[in-house]
Amino acid sequence: MKISERIRRLKPSATLTINAKTQELRASGREVVSLAVGEPDFGTPQHVIDAAKKALDDGKTRYTPVPGLPDLRKAAAGYFDRFYGAKAEADNVICTAGGKQALYNLFMALLDPGDEVLLPGPYWVSYPAMIDLAQGVTKVVPASENNGFLVTIDDLEKQVTDKTRILLLNSPSNPTGGAYSQEQLDELAEWALSKNIFVISDEVYDRLVYAPAKSASLSPFWQKHPENVAVVNALSKSFCLTGMRVGFALAHPDLVKGMSKIQGQSTSNINSVTQYAAMAAFEGSWDILDEMNTAFARRRDYILDVLGSWPGVTCPKPDGAFYVFPVLASLYKNGITDSTSLCTKVLEEAGVALVPGAAFGDDRCVRISYAVSDDVLAQALDKMAKVLVK
Ligand code: PLP
Repeated sequence: MKISERIRRLKPSATLTINAKTQELRASGREVVSLAVGEPDFGTPQHVIDAAKKALDDGKTRYTPVPGLPDLRKAAAGYFDRFYGAKAEADNVICTAGGKQALYNLFMALLDPGDEVLLPGPYWVSYPAMIDLAQGVTKVVPASENNGFLVTIDDLEKQVTDKTRILLLNSPSNPTGGAYSQEQLDELAEWALSKNIFVISDEVYDRLVYAPAKSASLSPFWQKHPENVAVVNALSKSFCLTGMRVGFALAHPDLVKGMSKIQGQSTSNINSVTQYAAMAAFEGSWDILDEMNTAFARRRDYILDVLGSWPGVTCPKPDGAFYVFPVLASLYKNGITDSTSLCTKVLEEAGVALVPGAAFGDDRCVRISYAVSDDVLAQALDKMAKVLVK
């Protein structure tokens, strides 16, 4: 059967591929521990589940406006005021099927064929594919592990051309967990503004930041320069709602309209029941974060201690998300030649699933998620050490 060139070019998501392989091995009776997970190991708060059940009982099962129910858009706009003091109205917000659809809509709405996107690397797996689908061109800007995998203006200057249209920032980062301070984010946004480059700030992990580091956002910058910035967020990671698919973007009303046009012609509104659950999340308690962040910070410190004891392994200390991205190239021997062969060996011999760094643009590294219980993490690292550090 003939499949379009566009789709033939498209790579499947590496993380989803690893998850499928893990399920396959488990189905065949193998015990596999996954440190490839991209979602918190905590339960969805009860008040959110109750709101979803109530919405169903109340028959809230019909189409809604494409960008979301007005009250949900207002509640999502309120998020930026609640946490960052940025004032936004309902018409500055579109609700999307996860942060993913917000990003996809943005690329489709902003890019013309050949427009370039500056993408600091290591980068989240889906960005280049989405940029490609929107006929944009990805220009990776490598960030050094000596700078915590954070990009500097000097790094960006090296890749900027007269075709650069967008700077894409992701803080805290998937895969590195690296997080910019508010000052660093503002400085990068100011630089982009001075070059007339639009900034997309992917902040889906912004609640998962570990003291003394603090959450940072370009939403206050957006308030000053609404035509130059869009902020993407989601309840997926911060509220353990990955499967419910709730994302939201903060943007200029004209851009919100453009994104709504794409959504209106492709998926329409996000799930109606989910919208009521999301409203309960925005309006209710966020206490779940205290428990999650305490656990994540503890696990991060633990994993860094363990990795630090492996010969030649380096790993910048991340300030957020639930990933570490160690440089494991010193362990490339005994049949291991790159991040993919390392992950294959660890999966086959230790029964531990990881994601190869190659998927994120750095073949020296692997991504390890610590969104698993302390016990599981300790056991998995132990098993990995037996295969890798002999
Ligand atoms: N942005 C980053 C950096 C992510 O890691 C993810 C999910 O893994 C997303 C966006 C999309 O999240 P969602 O599940 O809300 O679509």
